[in-house]
Amino acid sequence: MLPDNVLCFCIVGTDTDVGKTVVTAALARAAVTSGLRALVIKPVQTGSIPDAQGNLQAPDLALCREAAPGADTHSLLQFAAACSPHLAARLEARYDGKALTAHNLANEINRTVREWGDAEVGRKLVLLEGAGGLLTPLGASETLGDLLALLDWPVLLVATNRLGAVNHALLSLEALHSRNLSCPGFIMTEAQEARSELEQTIRRDNPLITASLGKKPCLAELSHLPNLKAPDLPDREVAWDQAARELAPALKAVGAWQSASPKTSDETDVLRFDREHLWHPYTSALHPTRVWEAASSSGSRIRLKNGRELVDGMASWWCAIHGYRHPALMRALKAQAETMPHVMFGGLTHAPAVRLGRRLLDMVPAALEHVFFADSGSVAVEVALKMALQYWQAKGETRRTRILTIRGGYHGDTLGAMSVCDPENGMHSLFSGILPTQIFAPRPECRFDAPYDPASEQAFAEVLTTHADSMAAVILEPIVQGAGGMWFYHPGFLRRVHALCQQHGCLLILDEIATGFGRTGKLFACEHADIEPDILCLGKGLSGGVLTLAATLATRNVAEGVSQNGSAFMHGPTFMANPLACAVAEASLELIASGAWRADVARLEAGLRKGLSRCAHQPGVADVRVLGAIGVVEMEREINVERLQTFFVTRGVWIRPFGKLIYLMPPYVATDDDIATLCSAIHCALAQETWR
Ligand SMILES: *Cc1c(COP(=O)(O)O)cnc(C)c1O
Repeated sequence: MLPDNVLCFCIVGTDTDVGKTVVTAALARAAVTSGLRALVIKPVQTGSIPDAQGNLQAPDLALCREAAPGADTHSLLQFAAACSPHLAARLEARYDGKALTAHNLANEINRTVREWGDAEVGRKLVLLEGAGGLLTPLGASETLGDLLALLDWPVLLVATNRLGAVNHALLSLEALHSRNLSCPGFIMTEAQEARSELEQTIRRDNPLITASLGKKPCLAELSHLPNLKAPDLPDREVAWDQAARELAPALKAVGAWQSASPKTSDETDVLRFDREHLWHPYTSALHPTRVWEAASSSGSRIRLKNGRELVDGMASWWCAIHGYRHPALMRALKAQAETMPHVMFGGLTHAPAVRLGRRLLDMVPAALEHVFFADSGSVAVEVALKMALQYWQAKGETRRTRILTIRGGYHGDTLGAMSVCDPENGMHSLFSGILPTQIFAPRPECRFDAPYDPASEQAFAEVLTTHADSMAAVILEPIVQGAGGMWFYHPGFLRRVHALCQQHGCLLILDEIATGFGRTGKLFACEHADIEPDILCLGKGLSGGVLTLAATLATRNVAEGVSQNGSAFMHGPTFMANPLACAVAEASLELIASGAWRADVARLEAGLRKGLSRCAHQPGVADVRVLGAIGVVEMEREINVERLQTFFVTRGVWIRPFGKLIYLMPPYVATDDDIATLCSAIHCALAQETWR
């Protein structure tokens, strides 16, 4: 994200009035004197003074320019009122508070540093002077600490050496630690001459005891320099020289710390190119949300390039069911790569596809006999929809062209799949007039864990009865609606849907892309209702999360219908039945067939229930639900995803919330400790209201 060769540091006080502005200015002077290019940023300056033209001037930056005439300075937001930023912003009408968010400030700071770093040559230092202390409010729900967490720069702590300094410094160090912010050490300043021998003793002891208890070194001590107090006092140059000299060791320590830290210039290059050129899921190319660079993964852990290890709560969008780099999957991958990574499936076949097909048919409901391999879940859904439509066309029932589904569903992002996603939280409004219009019944409101309420099927039954003649198929996610809202509904509803489809001669497509292979506690979620579909979509966990692979399975009846009178099924992706993906998927299914997942999923379910139950009483929580290896905390309002995700990363967990939902779908190999860590991170975020 930042240019090479730029050292970036934040300077934060244990409190206001600890002399951090003098420290920043003197560090800038020390940097400039030693030949560095320096930029001092003041993200929020309160107590600004209007100049002759009426423009607000930042007094702290004026001090920097006096101390270090060669340094550049930059101030983002300025307020006249000398008070906390959140209050100053509220008092001044021209800021409605919107500009003052950690996210906006972090983006602005990163942009400033990038542009400045590009324009300058040589070694560069950026000093960011915080406003007040680490927990100084930026707004009603954010503190300076949130900004620092977004920036993820190391922090130098400044404390005034007096009675009470140790407590202040240790509290700040603890707050830095809990945000996983790195801190090379602290600096102690003197506000006035010591007036007694005891005071002198205290001042000698303070840095020592703070370093010992806080496990951080005291990098420098700055003497009391009375002539820096007012601009018209004499000998200020001499005083600045002394200050710069006294702080030089801190600057040196910072440089040494940077070169010893695992951050490399390579990382900054990667993040920068990514930000400028690579699109991420559901993001703007111009204003992308934050990403972290992943370097490696293993079991239930993802390791970031910056060295941080995260406990994985997502199984990479639910596909890495056996955890990362499972040895059996890696073996299969390597062996297949040695012989035939890919070959077209038109006119050719191969053992990996056949072995995988056999294994699949051994597992899925018995009526399914034909397998179409696709390259992603969305394509598997397109294939299922096309199969249903071709089925009725071939049978001569050409009026049957509509698809019925329930609200709250998610089936993928391609056009056909999108047309059966929830019309409100899906992307229908963006594509109205382009998407085929399908028919929607209400979401089944009867919870999985409540007694069945037949009222929940009425609307569905009415819609199906009304449109029966034109209905080609019903598509839905059995029991668990995933990306459409993480909703668990009652098996009784699914049983009725199945019965109604049979009654009206309508095909039933079950999308088990998210629920298949044990996630809900059954091998397939349709087993909860003891029913079998006409068409089944599988994906995500199919290849154990290693390669992109999906499958659409059909009954003999569907296959025969589609193929009657010499017709062919009209679909054939380039990478259909890719041998590498098939070989890995076969290894994954072999692990599933061993049955060990049953005990694992039951264990994860117990851990999630235990860990998430205490979240139910936190403010803003609407519902907590757990089924199989899925745990969901639903909030009353939309979540501030970037802020919450940053919090999670600093806590050492990988959890990606969306909408109003914080959820966990860990890999089956997650340990009980992993689950406890994930749940406690969520609990902590709720208790601190980091999600707002
Ligand atoms: C993820 C998902 C899809 C889409 O799969 P992709 O591989 O992302 O195209 C479809 N249906 C369900 C239920 C899913 O969870």
